[in-house]
Amino acid sequence: MMPRTSSTDGYDYIIIGSGIAGLYTALLAREKGSVLILTKGSISDCNTRYAQGGIAAPIGENDSTILHMQDTLAAGAGLCDAEAVRILVEEAADRIADLIRYGVLFDTVNGQIALAREAAHSVPRILHIGGDATGEYIEVTLSRRVRESGVRVLEHCLATQILLQDGGIKGISVLDTYTGQTEEYDCRNIILATGGGGRLFKFTTNSEIATGDGLSLAFFAGAEITDMEFFQFHPTALRLPGVTPFLISEAVRGEGGILRNDKKVAFMADYTAEKELAPRDVVARSIVYEMQKTGADHVYLDVTHLPPSQVTTRFPHIYRFCLDVGLDITKDLIPVAPAAHYQIGGIKVNTWGETNIPGIFAVGEVACTGVHGANRLASNSLLEAIVFGKRIIEKSLQAHSSAGGVKQVEAYTFKAHKKISKTPRLNLPVLQWLMWDHVGIIRSGKDLEYMTDLLASWEISMQKPTDRASYELSNLVTIARLMAEAALLREESRGAHFRTDYAQTSPVWQKHITFKVEKGGGRGGGVM
Ligand SMILES: Cc1cc2nc3c(=O)[nH]c(=O)nc-3n(C[C@H](O)[C@H](O)[C@H](O)COP(=O)(O)OP(=O)(O)OC[C@H]3O[C@@H](n4cnc5c(N)ncnc54)[C@H](O)[C@@H]3O)c2cc1C
Repeated sequence: MMPRTSSTDGYDYIIIGSGIAGLYTALLAREKGSVLILTKGSISDCNTRYAQGGIAAPIGENDSTILHMQDTLAAGAGLCDAEAVRILVEEAADRIADLIRYGVLFDTVNGQIALAREAAHSVPRILHIGGDATGEYIEVTLSRRVRESGVRVLEHCLATQILLQDGGIKGISVLDTYTGQTEEYDCRNIILATGGGGRLFKFTTNSEIATGDGLSLAFFAGAEITDMEFFQFHPTALRLPGVTPFLISEAVRGEGGILRNDKKVAFMADYTAEKELAPRDVVARSIVYEMQKTGADHVYLDVTHLPPSQVTTRFPHIYRFCLDVGLDITKDLIPVAPAAHYQIGGIKVNTWGETNIPGIFAVGEVACTGVHGANRLASNSLLEAIVFGKRIIEKSLQAHSSAGGVKQVEAYTFKAHKKISKTPRLNLPVLQWLMWDHVGIIRSGKDLEYMTDLLASWEISMQKPTDRASYELSNLVTIARLMAEAALLREESRGAHFRTDYAQTSPVWQKHITFKVEKGGGRGGGVM
């Protein structure tokens, strides 16, 4: 079908995605020009609305930007961009003030903003709303403001291709998933706010939209993609047969929740002195080892020793969800296991959200600003979206640099792939199981070799996508390949990336792995 071109002059800004990154950036962009938001589901379909714990900011009496920076750098295991982290913590308070101005009402105690503690934060610094419904409140408030602001929002519109002209941005090609029509929209700036790719894995806390679309689109447009081997697995998602792996927030352990094995014995002290408050990767791996020891497919999270009123007021959302599936968490242990949670790597951007392609910006989970390094500190992602969203709009007012925003890297080709004898048929459940088993929490060179070969052969044989499901599957295969290739290259363990054949951190690998499509359509990468 021939595309219909919908705008003659083009928009000043096209923003793809309606999570916190897209909505907040759109509100700022609207003050500077015309804005179109494209989103593939309804406006409320996103990961943002599932965020529970809250949003980190160093605003407490005993806190400081230095402490927040130190905690973020420590979690990042040597790979954070220190300048990006400095910006994150120093601009946090002003961006929280923006959210409050937009109508976001954070929980308070005695008239002061209430601050919770989460794992690997040295002091309480997590602002929350409705106890554990932070994301939902932010999403509802910002969408209402967007609706009121005159921003045009097109729902059920799937971005399928970035259109380039003279080395810069022309616009975006979109599939209207209701009518099946393809449309093209022109713009001066495109802001990718499409979220992560957590649906790559069998067990995931992510919503159905998290299929790596923006990353894949940007990759094929020539953007640099970096740090893809780092994917964060949350240690505690509900594990009950037939029930979605609903997140049991970090804050539950922060509040005193204890992890117990299937014999009800507390075990975290056997693995780390920080016990339940160790960084996510350490807790997730400890749980996997404990499950391997006992043969169970879950451990338990215990809050039965806490006063019931503390549990129900601090975690009303979790309490209600569990009650609906038959668990009263004030009396019953919660069966939990790790699940895929957050894509740390992404489209490489500088501290102004610029990619290497003039006019293309990325923000939120799809972007890699470098603030998370090799592992994200809990509750820093909502903050990252607003801090760098604001900077994108400031930067967009200046003329685009012809070289784009980030330093270009040398081409480096993906490993030559071997033909595998029995190629399983590609479909979503098969991809998700294989990624969980081979590119998940604990990896090995052998498994990664197999997956890179398999993904390469799937890529070659894949049909051209025609509808939302086939576009999403194709995008997932692309990001799976980027992740598996990077994980195979990184012969060490660091942060969220753990390999049994290279279990130690190596100073040789204190660097980033970046991939980029070679001129002529081939795929390449650079290590820097
Ligand atoms: C269960 C859960 C709990 C979390 N808790 C916290 C927390 O407490 N604190 C914290 O800081 N972080 C938390 N996170 C992480 C955080 O919520 C996300 O990183 C953040 O919300 C991402 O925001 P975003 O705007 O980048 O993406 P999203 O909110 O995922 O939005 C992406 C948007 O892009 C749209 N989109 C995607 N592809 C296309 C396409 N091809 N065309 C058109 N539209 C497209 C989607 O439909 C969606 O609207 C949590 C995540 C989960 C899953």
